[in-house]
This record gives sequence, C-alpha cells and structure tokens, in this order.
Amino acid sequence: MEFETVIGLEIHAQLKTASKIFCGCSTAFGAPPNTHTCPVCLGMPGVLPVLNKKVVEFAIKMGLATGSTINRYNQFARKNYFYPDLPKGYQTSQFDLPIVEHGKVEIEVDGKTREIGITRMHMEEDAGKLIHAEHDSCSYVDLNRTGTPLLEIVSEPDLRSPQEAYAYLKKIHAILRYLDICDGNMQEGSFRCDANISLRPVGQSTLGTRTELKNMNSFRNVQDALEYEVRRQRDLLLDGQKVVQQTLLWDPDTNRTEPMRGKEDAHDYRYFPCPDLVPVEINSEWIEEIRATLPELPDARKNRFVTEYRLPEYDAAILTGDKLLAEYFEEAAKGGVEPKKISNWIMTELMRGLKGDDIGNCRVAPQQLGNLLLLVEKGVISGKIAKAVFQDMLESGHDPEQIVQEKNLVQVSDEHEIMKVIEEILAAHPAQVQEFRGGKEKLMGFFVGQLMQRMKGKANPAMANDLFQKAILGG
Ligand code: ADP
Ligand code: MG
Ligand code: ZN
Repeated sequence: MEFETVIGLEIHAQLKTASKIFCGCSTAFGAPPNTHTCPVCLGMPGVLPVLNKKVVEFAIKMGLATGSTINRYNQFARKNYFYPDLPKGYQTSQFDLPIVEHGKVEIEVDGKTREIGITRMHMEEDAGKLIHAEHDSCSYVDLNRTGTPLLEIVSEPDLRSPQEAYAYLKKIHAILRYLDICDGNMQEGSFRCDANISLRPVGQSTLGTRTELKNMNSFRNVQDALEYEVRRQRDLLLDGQKVVQQTLLWDPDTNRTEPMRGKEDAHDYRYFPCPDLVPVEINSEWIEEIRATLPELPDARKNRFVTEYRLPEYDAAILTGDKLLAEYFEEAAKGGVEPKKISNWIMTELMRGLKGDDIGNCRVAPQQLGNLLLLVEKGVISGKIAKAVFQDMLESGHDPEQIVQEKNLVQVSDEHEIMKVIEEILAAHPAQVQEFRGGKEKLMGFFVGQLMQRMKGKANPAMANDLFQKAILGG
C-alpha cells in the first residue's frame, strides 16, 4: 500500500523587542536567573498587563510579508494550564481572533515550487524555564523568559515530505530575519518548531491520525525526526496497527522519538477572552505605514541576484537564504570581481571556514574577500595561494594585501626568473626530459609540480606550461 505523508508545522518565534509583551522587563538572553522579572510577569495578584505596541507591529510585518490577512480586530485569550514555569496558571495567547490569518509562502524542493498555506499567526507570551538539576534532588525555575513575546506561526497541513518541511522552516526563518523581528537562534530557543505528522493511503482525502514532535533544536533535527516518524508510522500501518495520537520527543543522540504524553485537544485549555486586556483594534493607516517599511524579501532578492548578478538559481537561493549572507555577497561584489567567482568562493571556502558558525561572526569582512579575489584576477597571486591567504584571513582578520606582502606570496610572472628554475629542474631530471621528448606528455604535471615546489607555489601557473614546452622542445 502506498502512503502519502502529511505535515503541518507550528513555529514559535521570539520577537526581538527590547521589553516583554505585557510589562517593561528586559528580554535580554543570559541574565542571572529571575533578575528580569516584576509583579506583572511573576503573575502577582492585582496587577494588570499593558500590551507592547512593538509586538503588534512585528506581527503585522510578518503578516504582510506572507500575503496574509491582518485582522484589524483581534483579541487575547487565556489558555489555562498549570505548570511550574507558568506563574499565572494560564498563558495569555490568542484563540478564535488571532491577529493574522490566511497567509502563504513559496518553497522549492528538487526544482519544484509549491505554495504552503499559513493558517494563522498569533501573539502570545513565553513561559519560564525549568532547570532539572542532575545531582540535586530538586528543580529550579528561571522566570526571566516569562512574558517574552512570541509569534506562533501555524501552517496548513500542506507539507508532503520532511524535505518540504525543512524548506518551509528555512523560508519562514529567512523572512523573520529579513524583517529583523526575530534573531532566529534555534540553539537559544528563539526559533522553535513543533511538527505534526500523519500518513494516509494515497487518494484518501481525510487526514490520518497525527503525532506531534517536539524538542528539535536544529533544522537538521526537524528533518531527521520527521523521516524517522514517517518510517515508524508506515511500519505500524503496514502491520495493521493504529497510530496513537500523542506528543513525541526527538532524541538526537539515539535518533529516535520517545513518547512524552497523550495529546490534549484544544478544549482542555478552556480558552476564554482575557478580561484584563481590551481587544486590539488596528487602523488601516498604521498597516500601510508598516507595509511601507517592508524590506526586500528573500524571494525578490533571489530573483534580483539572478538578473543583476547573472548567478545560477541555485547560487542565488543559497546566498539569499540568509539575510546576512546575502548582504555579505553584495558587499563583496562591490569590489568589481565577477559575481559568480565570489559566489563560488562563499559557497566553498567561506562556508567551510565558518564551520557552521554565523556569517556575522566571520573575521573576514566582505570587502576583504572582494580584495583577495581581485588579487587573483589581476594575477598578483594564484588561486591556490589565495586559499592559503584566506585561511590566514579567517584566523587573523588581516587584509589580503598585507598577508601577501608580509609572507612574500606575490606571484612570479617574470619569464627569466621562472626559466632559471626550469633549467635547474631539467638538469636534475634528464631521464624525464628524454621521455617527454619521446611523447610522454603526462610528465608535464611532474615538471610543473617540481617548479611549484621550488618556487613555493608562486610561479604563474599559466606561464609554467608554456615555458617548459619551450625549454624542453624548443621554439
Ligand atoms: P494543536 O493546536 O492541538 O496542536 P492544530 O489543529 O492547531 O492543533 O494543528 C497544529 C498543526 O498540526 C497545524 O500545523 C496543522 O496543519 C497540523 N495538523 C493538524 N492535523 C494534522 C494531521 N492529521 N496530520 C498532519 N498535520 C496535521
Ligand atoms: Mg500543537
Ligand atoms: Zn516583568
């Protein structure tokens, strides 16, 4: 029997506001526990929340960037549940009147473009953090995060494979970063994702029973967990068993999902409109003001990279997948080197050098990369030497010109100087010279290798061949 995979993602994006959603406490990450708290976010009796306007603005921005409907009348609701990291006993969220609905984004997988629906986006507050100490017989709670603004982004069950889920997640991440409303750090938890997944026989229109996967803190984890779950559910169904609706935790060490709890249905939360907050009314002028501030978004930038820089679609997609990377490329390209050369260099040497780190932490400024490639283009250094210089730049942050000069790496293009070394080589290897004359042309590689060795890689490679030919065969 053939099955179709159905996936829907719930993304929680921490919004990059200076203060929390309903009080003036700082949202800065990494402060000593419980120092960014006040009676409001601690849930003391008698306090009243005041909505942070920036949160509304950011939600509208994301709504506009995804072609969604902005609900000019929306409302906060209480989602009731008890947990020690939630001092109020309820989370202030939105329920039947969310701020954003009916959006869409485009994704591309294996050259195929698909539109993925966004059901809704709503504003809510984050809970605190429980720390379960390994050796103490107690747990600790840090309420600094309590009240940090979140935008929950819920997709339609439109995704049909783990790869599509990965592409969708990347696209939402990129848009949030382009809008500069979320730092997108998955390790620190400012961009989180729960994945809902079910299988159904091909051709069936009703959805199968789903499981919900949590605890995935990298893009790779999300795809791995979903691939595991596809196999697990398929095996169950083929065996005539049923998938149990439940929440599963992904364990990246064992590469398995483990049951966490049975999955509640929404009515267990007994939502009701929050009586402490008036409904949010948004006038259309403000929406238009916000629309006017929207930056160029990833898809538009990708298309521009193809036309303006004549890059292949593939390069353009990778470079524009991250805002900082796209900016890095554009800065480097200002130096005047052929854009495709810069793109190649970024996608190989630079990516390798970053070892997964953020481009924002790279010690090589884009102008410096541009200048390095200019040195190659002008024939000052060879491409091979450039790689070594780049390594140095990554470590020291120094300018390429300085490194080339200090380490004396300037390419030698002086015919006489190269010829002198070539004659030494020919004198040292008479047998090979004979064989070459006899037609064994493969030996050219050996000769050039000798030359590069003696000249520490600095001989102009384009000249080396010609000069050997001339020296051995004459003419
Ligand atoms: P809850 O809030 O209880 O998690 P929702 O109905 O809001 O449930 O759905 C959450 C996510 O799960 C959405 O992205 C939705 O598209 C997806 N989803 C719902 N039902 C299924 C299903 N049967 N298979 C796969 N995904 C589903
Ligand atoms: Mg859910
Ligand atoms: Zn507070």
